[in-house]
Amino acid sequence: MKKDGIVIASAMNGQIRIHAARTTELVEAARIAHQCMPTSAAALGRTLTVTAIMASDLKNENEKIVAVINGHGPSGTILAQAGGNGDVRGFIGDPGLYYAREDGHLDVARAVGTNGTLTVTRDMGLKDTFSGVSALQSGEIGDDFAYYFAISEQTPSVVGVGVLVDTDLTIKAAGGLIYQLMPGAGEEAISKCEQVAAHMKPVSVLIEEGNDLEDIIKMYFEDAVILDHRDVRWHCGCSREHFFSALLTLKESDLQEMIDDGEGAEIRCQYCNSVYRYDTEDLKQVLEKRRVENR
Ligand SMILES: [Zn+2]
Repeated sequence: MKKDGIVIASAMNGQIRIHAARTTELVEAARIAHQCMPTSAAALGRTLTVTAIMASDLKNENEKIVAVINGHGPSGTILAQAGGNGDVRGFIGDPGLYYAREDGHLDVARAVGTNGTLTVTRDMGLKDTFSGVSALQSGEIGDDFAYYFAISEQTPSVVGVGVLVDTDLTIKAAGGLIYQLMPGAGEEAISKCEQVAAHMKPVSVLIEEGNDLEDIIKMYFEDAVILDHRDVRWHCGCSREHFFSALLTLKESDLQEMIDDGEGAEIRCQYCNSVYRYDTEDLKQVLEKRRVENR
């Protein structure tokens, strides 16, 4: 049985670094959580997939990568967050978009827009946080990340990423293949990457055909050495307790108002759409706790 995951490999004596990801279940879970139509599902799914691949290089479970795309198109902001532990979550401003091009492919660029930026933040837990920003190139997301890697991380990269949506709107296949030139890579490695880029089938098609990630890598990089396997999954991690603490940041007068109207509070998690309800008794507890803390 095939399942989601990421395989990390190197080729040509370490001059090329390769990541292959299968994210079919992850993107299907995201589609269900946000009730995405096909073009929104593809835009969000591609962003989640590349972000998951970037996070697969994190050394620490608590470290995170956050990618935010804002191309001023109808989709609005797309955000993906992935952790060193393999958990991935995210959202898209408008999940209801369905644009097809004349050739039948989903028109992701039309949804995302091309006039904007891709921002990547590396949150190293207790240590530093750094951000890099690059201008969107095509709004197709793969090219936009490739440009980001070149400009912000000085790593020439080819980013293949795709999501195939079935006629019943479910995700048929999703995945990504990223290959990058390491410092000191020679002419031979450069022309190898150019060759692969020119002849490669879309990675979503390779996954739909049932190929293993290792086989996909070796199909194009014959001498590849497999370095690591990583798990990846859709998982938000939000909880009732988490949003209870968020309520603690409200003003006392606002809490009192919510208690007085007797209707309780409802909080929706923007990452996974889970709804948490707090009744008047809960809100009284929040207010009490706040007063104690402020004493
Ligand atoms: Zn959530």
